[in-house]
Amino acid sequence: MQGTTWRWITILALALGVLVAAGCGDDDDEGGGSAATTTTPAAEKQTFAAGTTMAKLQEAGEITMGVKFEVAPFGFKNVQTGEVEGFDIDVANAIAADLGAKPKFIEALSDNRIPFLKDGTADLILSTMTINAERDEEIDFSEPYFIARGRILVKKSDNSIKGVKDLNGKRVCTALGSTYEDTLKKQAPQAKTTLVDGYSECLEAIQNGSVDAVSTDDVILTGMIIQDDTLKLVEGEELTTEPYGVGIKDGDAEFKKFVDESIQKFKDDGRWAKSYEKWVGQYTDEEQEPPTMTLQEAIDLSK
Ligand code: GLU
Repeated sequence: MQGTTWRWITILALALGVLVAAGCGDDDDEGGGSAATTTTPAAEKQTFAAGTTMAKLQEAGEITMGVKFEVAPFGFKNVQTGEVEGFDIDVANAIAADLGAKPKFIEALSDNRIPFLKDGTADLILSTMTINAERDEEIDFSEPYFIARGRILVKKSDNSIKGVKDLNGKRVCTALGSTYEDTLKKQAPQAKTTLVDGYSECLEAIQNGSVDAVSTDDVILTGMIIQDDTLKLVEGEELTTEPYGVGIKDGDAEFKKFVDESIQKFKDDGRWAKSYEKWVGQYTDEEQEPPTMTLQEAIDLSK
């Protein structure tokens, strides 16, 4: 979402503001215990070799996917339908459709994502999750399906923070288990960082003045501006590049291959562009192509 414009934010606020505002704050499901289901479009049923994860999930008829429940426009609950929606959800639905299984969405907070894969709580994670070398030691990733950028959010009235260095000495909120724990330590070592479970807590913290700034991916910060137009993104250089990948249990090469093929089809046949247009593009002045960055390039970028 490079080059996010205020026009985008304003129009998206009008389009999604009511749903997002209603969906956040009153969410007592936080922590990953709740579930929401959605309808999968009919897909031609593939046959998988017996014993593979794909065959087991198809037989079970359901695949559990850890997603965000409070991060518009990537994963957020539509309170009118009870379904989760967003770009991550479109990718998740595409994978479930190729599998011939119904998706079951559970909330995966930033710090839950790797444990959920390791202990089998989730079969896959699509939760605004950045591919990096450290995480790649513990789980597998798909090829990148979206590229976000690291940014800073402040109050519109705050002119004291013009770049990441200005966070030194300031109080900054980000999520526990997010890449920004490290980014802030490296780029603003004197920042007083508050780590929270879910990003709605960062929104509350900046609103009630207990922090001066929030730092995370541009798409997440934009979701906060949708809910509160007294907030703004700090203009200027991006802190980081954050290639999103689907999290897969470590060592399941066949399942990773299946997920990669499903994502590649999603990119190639126009569904990626359609989803991008629906959740991001129609509100921006710029176009974006499906990412061509490879998994290895994403891992190397983080080193
Ligand atoms: N993409 C970053 C990460 O995976 C930040 C967003 C998040 O915490 O979900 O850590």
